[in-house]
Amino acid sequence: MRFAAGTRPTPFRAGRYNGSRRTERESMSNPLLGEDPLPQFRQIRPEHVEPALRELLHANRARIGELASLARPTFASVVEPLEELHHRISRTWSPVSHLNAVLNSDALRAGYNACLPLLSAYQTDLAQSEPLFRAYRTIAEEQGAALAPVQRRVIEHAVRDFRLAGVGLPAERKERFKTAMLELAQLQAKFEENVLDATNSWTRHVTDSAELCGLNEMLIEQARRRAHEQGLGGWLLSLDQPTYVAVVTDAESEGLRRAFYEAWTTRASDQGPSAGRWDNAPVMEEILRRRHEIARLLDFGNYAEYALATRMAHSVPEVLAFLHELAAAARQAARHEFEELEQFAARPLAAWDVGFYAERLQRERYSVSQEELRPYFPLPRVLAGLFAVAERLFGISIRERQGAAVWHPDARLFDISAGGEPVGSFYLDLYARPHKRSGAWMDECIGRKRLTSGAALPVAYLVCNFLPPAPGKPALLTHDDVLTLFHEFGHGLHHLLTRVDYPSIAGINGVAWDAVELPSQFLENYAWHPEVLQQLAGHFESGAPLPRDKQARLVATRSFHAGLSMMRQLEFALFDFRLHTEYAPERGGRVLEILEEVRREVAVVPVPQWNRFPHSFGHIFAGGYAAGYYSYKWAEVLAADAFAAFEERGVFDGPTARRFLDAILSRGGSRDALEAFVEFRGRRPDVRALLRQHGIDRPDGRAA
Ligand SMILES: [Zn+2]
Repeated sequence: MRFAAGTRPTPFRAGRYNGSRRTERESMSNPLLGEDPLPQFRQIRPEHVEPALRELLHANRARIGELASLARPTFASVVEPLEELHHRISRTWSPVSHLNAVLNSDALRAGYNACLPLLSAYQTDLAQSEPLFRAYRTIAEEQGAALAPVQRRVIEHAVRDFRLAGVGLPAERKERFKTAMLELAQLQAKFEENVLDATNSWTRHVTDSAELCGLNEMLIEQARRRAHEQGLGGWLLSLDQPTYVAVVTDAESEGLRRAFYEAWTTRASDQGPSAGRWDNAPVMEEILRRRHEIARLLDFGNYAEYALATRMAHSVPEVLAFLHELAAAARQAARHEFEELEQFAARPLAAWDVGFYAERLQRERYSVSQEELRPYFPLPRVLAGLFAVAERLFGISIRERQGAAVWHPDARLFDISAGGEPVGSFYLDLYARPHKRSGAWMDECIGRKRLTSGAALPVAYLVCNFLPPAPGKPALLTHDDVLTLFHEFGHGLHHLLTRVDYPSIAGINGVAWDAVELPSQFLENYAWHPEVLQQLAGHFESGAPLPRDKQARLVATRSFHAGLSMMRQLEFALFDFRLHTEYAPERGGRVLEILEEVRREVAVVPVPQWNRFPHSFGHIFAGGYAAGYYSYKWAEVLAADAFAAFEERGVFDGPTARRFLDAILSRGGSRDALEAFVEFRGRRPDVRALLRQHGIDRPDGRAA
């Protein structure tokens, strides 16, 4: 999954600042505190970071103290100023966190790291403020009926988040809530540590070069060096993820594949090569117990219900029905794919064989590689094609702004307008280079606001890590890169085309976490569409179009083993969701029992009894996906179903695009995500569009 705009690590969300209260001196000398429409990237120095932030936080705290103590709080006297403070701190911190990601240096990192605990303490204080909570509630009660829907929504969101942070609980429960949260954070860190230690503890010493057959040269050379460093002959393979993936996909030696599979899937458990040493079983029990307790303290039935309080999916049965429906629909296709794979391998396959034979089958069937497509996707042409798609769909126009102050010569600035009126701007920084974080993401530079204190148009950063151009040539992308660009641009449009005036629910802010990938995955569909592909692709030297047979094979790869991969994701999702629904203090988490039950329903590939994948399932035990793994599939269904509305009337149908913009893209968090979807589609999301997209909707269950 690509980096989600909504899931990027944000050290704070509810920042506030009042622009009028800072001292003249600091604001004149510190570019981070200026009033310029865009960050002054060329002036910002590491030594500006901490003083700017300290001053801002100090002023904000003072101002918040005043707002929280107003005798007759109103929307205008409390909420609007808080929204302004939020906007101000976001736009001050955003260039710092951006530069830290794309132009890292020791000095900048030091400044950045020094600020994190300050921001985090500020955020916690704000999130737990009883006086502000009371003020918001009073405003809701006294003014609610007279406020505009979007204003009511701002208040509802804030009150909800106060409640979920334990504000408003009786003293004793509140104390227990805080302690449980803290213990949970420690347990999650412990889980992660155990996985890391178990991963690092295992290596495979290979002495017979025949065992390395199929592995790539770079990996083999790395393993040779590692053995040499330890005074060993032969090759030393470690259990890091790239090596594990390479071995189970490429190694011809079944013995080697099995050894890696066993070591990988038994990490931090009572099984496998380091059985019992870092066993996460008790940690998992404790994590589940704390989560359940946290949910109960807030009067939710279980942790899944607590997690759903901020999501598009509203109830436990809704999520379970969704997952079961997909499982029922994809099972037959998955079984067929597996049978076909065994036929191809001409023998029964074990869990550690599947990746290996799937790779071979895919190569034989499609014979199209990402590298081979590069010459057909020169960046200028892809960008022009992408912009043309967005312009045609949403009636905007995109122009590059020359001479903008940027942080690196590769970075560019573009302005968006609609009907001659400016809408927003975005920076592009697309090439990999040293001191730049890997991956791809969209981030908010400036959020949209229209408050009595002033207005601002949204600005975004779109960052990728493509191969830089060779001298005298354009950068050449793989189709995977093209998808990444469309994906991040989809997040960007969500931020940039918002029409919401209040920063806390404008753009991607306040959007339900399981709906935030809708615009990004939606836009990816265009990069698969034959008509758009023909526009995007053209040989960088000859201009020749992408040959039809290559294009057909590329498009066909999209549905390769869609059934198997769907069932695997559903296994994770069902396991995660049932775990967080069914926990009961008297019988504990039943981790392995639930896994067994889920597998009886959805597993297609045989899994050995000793497999202990939950013990290293960091997504749900250490990270933010607890009771949330379903959202991968959830967002895919939304995106596919939304795109299907376009396919029904032509992918550039004007009225459909306007409805998508009005109901979803421009609405930010100002509206319940499900209601927004229903407004656009005229009904609730339907899984069939996704099944069709992957060719697994046929009555015989055969994949296309
Ligand atoms: Zn994303």
